[in-house]
Amino acid sequence: MKAQVLHKYDPEMKQDIWVKEEEVPNPKIEKASDVIVKIGAAGVCRTDLHVIEGEWRHIQDPDDKLLPCVMGHENAGWIEDVGSDVEGFKKGDSVILHPIISGTNGTCLSCRKGLDTHAENGSMPGLNIKEGGYSELLKTSVRNLIKIPNTLTPKDVAPFSDAGLTAYRVAKKATRHLLPGENCVIIGAGGLGHIAIQCLKAMCAANIIIVEKSETALKHAMPLGGDHGVLIDGNEVERVKELTKGNGAEAVIDMVGEKGSTSMGLNMTKNTGSYYIVGYGEDIKIKSVDMIISERNIIGNLIGTWSELYELMELANKDLVRLSMQEYKLSEANQASHDLKNVKVRGRAALVPYTSLFSDLFRSKACRIKAG
Ligand code: ZN
Repeated sequence: MKAQVLHKYDPEMKQDIWVKEEEVPNPKIEKASDVIVKIGAAGVCRTDLHVIEGEWRHIQDPDDKLLPCVMGHENAGWIEDVGSDVEGFKKGDSVILHPIISGTNGTCLSCRKGLDTHAENGSMPGLNIKEGGYSELLKTSVRNLIKIPNTLTPKDVAPFSDAGLTAYRVAKKATRHLLPGENCVIIGAGGLGHIAIQCLKAMCAANIIIVEKSETALKHAMPLGGDHGVLIDGNEVERVKELTKGNGAEAVIDMVGEKGSTSMGLNMTKNTGSYYIVGYGEDIKIKSVDMIISERNIIGNLIGTWSELYELMELANKDLVRLSMQEYKLSEANQASHDLKNVKVRGRAALVPYTSLFSDLFRSKACRIKAG
């Protein structure tokens, strides 16, 4: 099969070619619970850029054995083959793949509690295992599969398996306490932000304030559910304060996490409110005495659980959440990665190895944007 293979890290991110298209052996069923999926689409994620950069090398590849590696952890497609213990799934079924492969096949305490992201010895395709979705076929486990509702195609949903799931989980956490009349700030309306806005809109009646540095991204995001848009121009904290009667918002969701967004986000958080950190890059700095006086919560967020991915599929099935997606062929993996790095991707980018089935053309719901 064809796959796009990463052979060496590029800490400077200056190379034109990061991955190379190669012919590699097809994956094979080894365990009775294994499933081979024909990739319908594989999301190209900012995390993949960090993989190329080697930023996670000390965590994901301490022994220097990961490369060569096929990236791609946001995968959806059609079942090609199943192991002898697999029930309820058959060849041809459309599925989305939860990105965390449990090291215990689901028998550890975290998995039993449904906390897939904290599974013992958990791994992610294309991140700390060599096989990922930038390819025609991928092996996974039956416990990672969710059937895609038949109103949707793999291309409509692939980036939901990580980016969308992360946005959904954090929005869900915020909707657990946000009441009508209260406020939720979302910092960053790009790949994750545009999904979180729709999830919030679908699940609660709080006012949504979108804080964004790009005028174009803000314009694109507002119709998805924004009540107010605030451009980052140096006065953004004051603007949010004005919109929240001087108090700040009950929930602030920070999709950026770098270049000063953490202090900005904390300054927008109301006393007793919650600041949710999703994007990463800088340290969060706050005096302990300020934490005590303000009684603010700082909450970390890591992807989401299998059942939350199921819930997100239900929102997508009801057409309450749609992805903006820029489509690339598998052979255009380098182009897609550079476009993402150069902020030329609106919404999410995905590699699509096969041309659409005729029937899928009528089903597809994602808001498609032509690449380039
Ligand atoms: Zn991702």
